[in-house]
Amino acid sequence: MQTIPIADITEAKPASRFSQADAGALSRPGVERLLARLRPWLPWVHVSMFVVFLAVLVVPVYLPEPSEQASSLDDGRVLANYLLWGVWFPLVFFSVVITGRSWCGFLCPMGAASELANRHGLQRVTPAWIRWPGTPIVSFIVITILGQTTGVRDHPEAALEIFGGTFALAILVGWLWGRNKRVWCRHLCPIGLLLGVFARLGAVQLSPRKWKPGLDALTEKTICPTYIDLPRKRAARHCIECLRCILPGHRAGLAVSFRRPGRELEMIRHHLPDGWEVLFIFLGAGVALGGFLWLVMPFYDSWRQSVGTWFIDQGQYWIGEPGPDWLMSVHPERREIFRWLDFFMISGTMVSVMVLCAIALGLASLGSAALARHFGSECRLLRATIQLGYSQAPVALMALMIGLATELFTPFIGLGMTVAQVSNVKSLMILAGLLWSLWLAWQILNGLGVRRGRALAMVPTALGSASMAAAWWMAVL
Ligand code: SF4
Ligand code: SF4
Repeated sequence: MQTIPIADITEAKPASRFSQADAGALSRPGVERLLARLRPWLPWVHVSMFVVFLAVLVVPVYLPEPSEQASSLDDGRVLANYLLWGVWFPLVFFSVVITGRSWCGFLCPMGAASELANRHGLQRVTPAWIRWPGTPIVSFIVITILGQTTGVRDHPEAALEIFGGTFALAILVGWLWGRNKRVWCRHLCPIGLLLGVFARLGAVQLSPRKWKPGLDALTEKTICPTYIDLPRKRAARHCIECLRCILPGHRAGLAVSFRRPGRELEMIRHHLPDGWEVLFIFLGAGVALGGFLWLVMPFYDSWRQSVGTWFIDQGQYWIGEPGPDWLMSVHPERREIFRWLDFFMISGTMVSVMVLCAIALGLASLGSAALARHFGSECRLLRATIQLGYSQAPVALMALMIGLATELFTPFIGLGMTVAQVSNVKSLMILAGLLWSLWLAWQILNGLGVRRGRALAMVPTALGSASMAAAWWMAVL
């Protein structure tokens, strides 16, 4: 049972030449002891988070409609919405850059519930379609589109459907498949891959005290709930920081160390570059962008009008009917009713932007990879393209953070910040993401052995990052 990355993984250095110093790792025994002491308390944290999860998702559905002037200080619904999109999402995204997937291991009640169900479940062999590397990409895309068509950021019923539905699925998957593992977290969680990619930017690193030769491939013979072959672990991506492998004083336990944020991606050639992951960065950034772009595209309404007229001309009147409320936003009480036309237009726009974005970023990485080879890199074209594709991660992270954390700045406005000032802060965040992406591309090209002509080789991928930053700036500002 093994996930094969698209990249030719034989490029990874053999363990004898891949030292701790390569990854900048210096073990922190004090931190390891602290984390080991913390571990027995985690189930209690998960139970508490489950209660918070229920309160934030279920209670608002039964509360009365808030008034137009209601704020999070005087209305339960507005408060729950703020906690979800203004506190939870930004915290998860910020924390992943500092501490990796600490949200997953320390706080997430969904993964913990899935693992608990697994202990008492059927423990069947995980089917091949779940282990397919494209499954978490599909999971993210489907949930993102469904979130948009149901209005997950505006309607508590949609939030309950999306988050509650995935919670129930996580428990079902845990109950059916895997043996003392988290099949859901490794293969299916809609945000698992997203957090995995950004965890590679994280400053906390868990690494073997001595690397063993071989690939960091998926294995059943491990205490790790996400199937990591611990002595061969090279990437932060699948580590949910459950702390199970932190065994202070034991050589078999992983060492905890700190590194500069982004270090793993700068050295991506040593950390299992994976084409599926890069494909996800391109597609994920695109579909999320599409989710915001349709709201601001000046020609969206005329397209919608033309498509609707065409269907009516064909006698297809159902296109103007509202669909089921689990698939699209049907809330007459809030003056928002999506029809089949809206459903197809929104999902069609999101998929189109996603495909265009993936093609543009793919070509940008390919262009830089070709130039890198022209200027002396001996890395194969596909491998170089994949490595350079990772440079888009920071700009995507910043954009997603601003886009999804819609309520992040609400309290600052309440405290007197003007809308223009908030926009400036958002612009600066996108600019910071863009600069970080450029720095990453520069470092990755260095790792590809490009010295002379590096600035020129960077041009295509830099244009890709700049276009994404510009598109997000249009969409969220
Ligand atoms: S992968 Fe998903 S379900 Fe698992 S712990 Fe992380 S966020 Fe929670
Ligand atoms: S590598 Fe260690 S901390 Fe990370 S998920 Fe596996 S067992 Fe948990």
